[in-house]
Formats: sequence, structure tokens, C-alpha cells
Amino acid sequence: MKKRRVPEILWRLFHNRARTLGATILSLIPLKSSTNCQCKGRRCLGCDGEYGAISFLLRENDPDDYRKLLNQCFIVVSDQAPPLHGYDPHCRWAHLELVRKTIEMTISEQCSSSNVISFGYDKMSRCSDIVEALTSPSWSLLLTRIGDVLMVYLLKNTSIFLWLPRNKHHQVAGFPISDLCLKSQVHISITTYKPSLLHPGNYQFQKRLLLRL
Ligand SMILES: [Zn+2]
Ligand SMILES: [Zn+2]
Repeated sequence: MKKRRVPEILWRLFHNRARTLGATILSLIPLKSSTNCQCKGRRCLGCDGEYGAISFLLRENDPDDYRKLLNQCFIVVSDQAPPLHGYDPHCRWAHLELVRKTIEMTISEQCSSSNVISFGYDKMSRCSDIVEALTSPSWSLLLTRIGDVLMVYLLKNTSIFLWLPRNKHHQVAGFPISDLCLKSQVHISITTYKPSLLHPGNYQFQKRLLLRL
């Protein structure tokens, strides 16, 4: 039997729609070479082809936590997510403000369904555990690599499961997968997940891992 890389509960719920954050990002951007990009030749995630995108996203000296974020955080794009047209590499917003605004937007747009990203959000202090988790140094680095349009798209339209030690994942965005846990956090125990690391510079290996699902 093949070893599953997706945490078992996510596999059971979403099958191959559950992918690592890194693979999800690569699936959302154009992955084509273009000389006519909004970055004006400065090079970004969206204009240097597939190899360029991978080596732009993850670099030789990137911190371990950032690598883990790309490889061990799992994402499920909502089936109601609008298509992402084109790619805009710019970062116009301060990270904390971007996360707060996105959560406030989600709260004001919510009709019947709920989104974990707004759980525990204090409108006065504009803070929550989830705001803190999503503005960690690794997420800040990610923002500089992917730009704020794609970041907001991820926060609004996907379920995000952060990796925790001891084979657990922690949902910080998306429709809550557990109705049993009414707190602001949902913990998922998994049994078969074997984390694997990307190594910058080893393109074939990276590609296999990033695109395997
Ligand atoms: Zn570009
Ligand atoms: Zn938690």
C-alpha cells in the first residue's frame, strides 16, 4: 500500500483536494514564462515558469519553519472559490492589517456558513489566536513571496490546517471540519502522516513533492 502524505482525516474528508500549502500555491499561479509581468522584470512567482516559481517560493537559506509551513501545512481550496485571474505579485498591505481586514471582511460577508478564521476574533482589540498564528514570521515571509492578492485569496477561500508537533493539525481557516469542538481551535489527530522536507536546489525532488497530489 502506498504511504499517504495527507493526514488521514483530511484524506477521508477531501481526498486529493487536500494538498500542502506549497503545492496549492503552485496550482493557483499561472506557472508560465512571461516578459510582460506586473513585476516589471524584477522576477516574481508568476513570470518565471514552473522551475522559477518553485525556486522563488523556497530558497536555499530559508528558515526551517518556513519550509515546514510550505510542506506540512495542508490546504483545501473551497469548491465555491472563485477562479483566480492572472497573478499580481505586489505587497501593498502591512501583514497584520491584511489578516485583520480579511477576517473582518469574512465576518461581514458571512451568511449561513461559518469560517474558522473569524473564531475568537475580538473586534475591539482586532486580535485572536488565529491572527497571531497567521502573522508568524513564516507567514510574513510567505507574504513577501506570493503578494497580498494571493494571500487574501488563500485566507478567504481555503481551509488551512497548520502542522503541530506530535502529528496534529490545527485548522485556522475555512469551514470548521469538526462540529464537536466549539472552541476557537480544532485539533485533528492523525496517524499515518509522514512529513517530508523539500531541499532547495534539488528540483526534481521538489517537483515530485510539490506536485505529487
Ligand atoms: Zn513577475
Ligand atoms: Zn490549537
